[in-house]
Amino acid sequence: MVRWLPNQRWSLVILALILGNQLYCIGNAQTQSRIDSISPFGSVGSVDSFGSTTNTRSDQDLVPGWPYVFDSSGFHFYSLVPPKVLEQQIQGVLRLPEELNQELGIAFRGLDVHILVFDSRRSLDEYLHRYYPGLRAANSMYIRDQGPGLILTWFHADWLVDVRHEATHALLHAKRASIPLWIDEGLAEYFEYPSGSSSGDSFAIKSHPVHTKLIHTQLRFGQFANLEEQERWDPNKRLSNQQYRDAWGSVAFLLNHSDQSKNEFRFYVKDLLENRASGNLSYRLQQTIPDWRTAYTRYYREHSVASSIR
Ligand SMILES: [Zn+2]
Repeated sequence: MVRWLPNQRWSLVILALILGNQLYCIGNAQTQSRIDSISPFGSVGSVDSFGSTTNTRSDQDLVPGWPYVFDSSGFHFYSLVPPKVLEQQIQGVLRLPEELNQELGIAFRGLDVHILVFDSRRSLDEYLHRYYPGLRAANSMYIRDQGPGLILTWFHADWLVDVRHEATHALLHAKRASIPLWIDEGLAEYFEYPSGSSSGDSFAIKSHPVHTKLIHTQLRFGQFANLEEQERWDPNKRLSNQQYRDAWGSVAFLLNHSDQSKNEFRFYVKDLLENRASGNLSYRLQQTIPDWRTAYTRYYREHSVASSIR
């Protein structure tokens, strides 16, 4: 994660338009296509804030009109793409809170997430240029603030995957808790694909089209995701491809290795989201998984068949 402090001119521009004055962002090194940002700007809850067709603000000419504005299950879409085109994929977004609930045992209903859908990379770039100068172009971006989460994306082939990644961040951070980077990114990667969507079998969510193969390669070289090392990751540094792989690997392992590991992970995340003193998960796991390396490598070797399905 890289802390990004806009210079004074940028601050003034953002402050004037959306009351923002500070951001920091995380780039997904895997695809270089995502940015997760945090911004303490004021409310973005009204349609006018995004430049609706009814916007009468003086900066109206700086924001796109949104021909399609629609809400469903706490997700508010402001789109340049017709809902008919998005219809099928939106179902994969709307299911996300329930999927998180099932895996983590935590309710995420009633949380507002705002999603801006641009019709091209160019229109997103132009918006960024106006409102977030200095932020590099990306396929999707998550901006966290004191209010509802905000996702910016353009409609592309992997739109659903990217939006689910960012929406997972948005739902987790809507709880206003501090979440270790490896859990934040690990869960976002874990929930990118709708459960059972690609292979139809129960292992679908346990594998990832990129990370699972990389983990098997990693294991052949005797390497593995080191949980204690992940817990020391600097939240201000951008993750490498290998770190995204390891974040996903640890989360997928903990949620699927055994009932005990799943419960330990769920309790830990719940403590984090409810702002209870949580310490390090590696310390809590000493009883459940006394030898992380052996358990981790054995788990992924045993799941090599299932994971090759997708
Ligand atoms: Zn992310």
